[in-house]
Amino acid sequence: MQNPTLSASDPIEAHCTKCRKNTDHIIITMGEETPAKVQCQDCKRQHKYRPPKTPRSTAQLRAAHQQEDERKEWKTLEPSMDSAKATSYSMTAAYKVGSLINHPVFGLGSVQRLAGLRKIEVLFEDGKKTMRCK
Ligand SMILES: [Zn+2]
Repeated sequence: MQNPTLSASDPIEAHCTKCRKNTDHIIITMGEETPAKVQCQDCKRQHKYRPPKTPRSTAQLRAAHQQEDERKEWKTLEPSMDSAKATSYSMTAAYKVGSLINHPVFGLGSVQRLAGLRKIEVLFEDGKKTMRCK
């Protein structure tokens, strides 16, 4: 989702290929949703808008994609989940793959895999979470 309230002359962080880093830019012209042309405040060069590149935002992007995939997975699984069979989550209980649990915060979840010693990976509506177990 892009910010629809941006307009020309607004400051924005963007990637500058001349400075080879993210710098403060001013929007020169707006496209439909994203800035079309921006001016780098470091080198004063005007260029096409490029979103800021940072390892952090890449990681966030990847996490967002992953969560989207997990939500799709949840939607596929949900019809086959019998919430009446779910047990309240407890970190002192033992679980196996396919167990259904009810978590006070995350809601209904399906155990996807055993994620190591005393850990299970559970798919909730919000995505996968690693939980403690017996
Ligand atoms: Zn620049």
